[in-house]
Amino acid sequence: MAKTVQNFNAEIKQLLDIVIHSLYSQKEIFLRELLSNASDAIDKLKFQSLTNSSILPAGWEPQIRLVPNKESKTLSIIDNGIGMTTAEVNEFIGTIARSGAKAFMKMNEENKTKPELIGQFGVGFYSAFMVADRVTLHTQKAGENDGTVWESTGDGTYSIDQVPRPEGTGTTLTLHLKEFKNEDEVSDFTDAWVLKSLVKKYSDFIAFPIKMKNDKGEEETLNSQKALWLRSPSEVTAEEHKEFYQHLSHDWNEPLKTIHYKAEGTMEFNALLYIPTKKPWNFNTGDMAYGLSLYIKRVFIMADCKDLLPTYLRFVKGLVDSSDLSLNVSRELLQQDRQVTQIRKNVTTKILSTLKELLLKDRSAYENFWNEFGATLKEGLPADPGNKEKLQDLCLFHSTHSDKMTTLEEYVGRMKNEQKEIFYITGDNLAQIRNSPYLERLNEKGFEVLLLVDTVDEWMIEALREYKEKKLQSITKEGLDLDTAEEKARHEEEKKQSEVTLKPVLEVMKKTLESQVKDVVISDRLTTTPVCLVSASNDPSAHLQKLMSRLGQEQSMMNAKRIMEINPKHPVFQKMLEAGADQQAKWAEILYNQALLTEGSALPDPVKFSHQIADLMIQAASGVKH
Ligand code: ADP
Repeated sequence: MAKTVQNFNAEIKQLLDIVIHSLYSQKEIFLRELLSNASDAIDKLKFQSLTNSSILPAGWEPQIRLVPNKESKTLSIIDNGIGMTTAEVNEFIGTIARSGAKAFMKMNEENKTKPELIGQFGVGFYSAFMVADRVTLHTQKAGENDGTVWESTGDGTYSIDQVPRPEGTGTTLTLHLKEFKNEDEVSDFTDAWVLKSLVKKYSDFIAFPIKMKNDKGEEETLNSQKALWLRSPSEVTAEEHKEFYQHLSHDWNEPLKTIHYKAEGTMEFNALLYIPTKKPWNFNTGDMAYGLSLYIKRVFIMADCKDLLPTYLRFVKGLVDSSDLSLNVSRELLQQDRQVTQIRKNVTTKILSTLKELLLKDRSAYENFWNEFGATLKEGLPADPGNKEKLQDLCLFHSTHSDKMTTLEEYVGRMKNEQKEIFYITGDNLAQIRNSPYLERLNEKGFEVLLLVDTVDEWMIEALREYKEKKLQSITKEGLDLDTAEEKARHEEEKKQSEVTLKPVLEVMKKTLESQVKDVVISDRLTTTPVCLVSASNDPSAHLQKLMSRLGQEQSMMNAKRIMEINPKHPVFQKMLEAGADQQAKWAEILYNQALLTEGSALPDPVKFSHQIADLMIQAASGVKH
């Protein structure tokens, strides 16, 4: 095949433009990214060789080499990993649009010069162009006889040619280093001392030897290759954890919490887990990879093994190294493997107990964690009933008690003697539900209410149901029981009276709103607002109906009409009594719309509502004597 020239896709072009022209700081991180790719390539070859040993060249020993050349001003990074086919080179390093490219550019726009984050976006290869004005890649895929030479100056095109690689399987990446001026303060990446210290700083734990020739022409190994997770937890320093975590997650922040332990007994494995401080850029998007890396007896098997971690702990990064699993285990079989299930259970218990400890010992750190990952952790209640007891004590809630978040235990500790249930309200945002009329009576009585605003909360509550034998009760459902026997008797009496006095109004309202609500009833739930809507105790709440309709599943719930409760003490009803039937019907509609607004629902016909209000204003104005 003759050499061809091709265009990078538009996004990669833009990305390269940024890498070349606006990333000035932290240029050295290119080495970390490229060594990490080399190490991944060796991992992949080793993994394939588990099921196909003929893929390994005779006498193969994994290694990565650094070859600096002061005269030609080049640096080569050479690995004997899996290599790439021509199609793969085109795909991975040329044409395929990767969502990370866009995300990286966006971050860079908002948050200038954070080159160190490039790896997090899955486009680390391009960091080569921070230091090189020409990059040559010569690669040959394991099992193939021909190789591929790719070359680019980062100007929007690259050339590609097919040439066998003299060393066979593997990849050689040659960077033709840019001329930097002294004032740029960029290190000389052909200098042995510079390279050695960069390897120590960023890539010491890479599991394969990174070699370089010294002055005397002898090969020297630059990294200690220590498998951090096999060392005794007390021997690993925080600095080492930080570097390893950054290598593993590409996250530039320090981990919030490190969990390092060895499980012994019925099964043996080492686990090294990190709870991040911040969400990654693509958290909860389709692009997000999660799960733990799986090693078996120090051999890397796979990254992002989902079977090792329940979905609701998907924010945890880390690895498990098992001594019990068979090296021949295939990805498909992992899922059904009993040992894998056991490991997942064990790891889950450990993570939950670590979080519990953090909650008890460092509330403010825990609150930071909760703000990032609380909504994810809450998914555990419906998803993992076996851990309900543990999960319920890890949950934090906003509440009417104060601006600080509360645990259920703290809430129960503050419950009044006469309070039987734990009250909550769900909604879209705190500001809205903090002002909700549903809170009026509860505030008056001094009953605390949990304010739930995460999408998952409706399902979480459904799974939680009760805490320490106290039922969780929605304050937007019918039959809210807040009173003592005495108060009840009094309210019952008042209610009967109101029912008699307001009978004509109630009748008109019921008739007018027949198709919208199940019933119109008198209630003592409100103190200052005229009306509200409540759900029957077995019906979904208005908020849940709204969520379901957003998810496109409203069909099943379309018919769950609500009950309209009216506050008989509100003067509007006295006025309604005095008005004609026509007026009453109009006002009933307006009140219904107001009730929809206060519960946070959209109006079916906002224009009509707006006209009705305008009419009212005109009427009111003409009633006013000048
Ligand atoms: P990431 O490594 O996060 O996927 P990169 O931009 O660094 O993103 O690399 C893109 C892809 O190119 C890699 O996923 C890998 O498939 C391939 N690749 C890069 N370097 C090598 C290498 N040395 N050997 C084999 N494949 C490589």
